[in-house]
Amino acid sequence: MSRLEPDNVCNICECDFDMESEGGVQGYIGIIPFSLCPMCYSGLMDMYEQLSGGTGEYEDGQEIPGDDEE
Ligand SMILES: [Zn+2]
Repeated sequence: MSRLEPDNVCNICECDFDMESEGGVQGYIGIIPFSLCPMCYSGLMDMYEQLSGGTGEYEDGQEIPGDDEE
């Protein structure tokens, strides 16, 4: 219970991954180690973009710019 080093198991989906060959990220949140496989990492990045307003081209996509030009 006192493992304070990130291992190669994703903290979200619990799959094994190899950061050197597959990518992903390992680090610490405060003192808590975390590991994310490439899939969950890119998923989190997508979520972050949505939460932070990111590109804004999808959420507010109801009106299409230039719609009244023919
Ligand atoms: Zn994962």
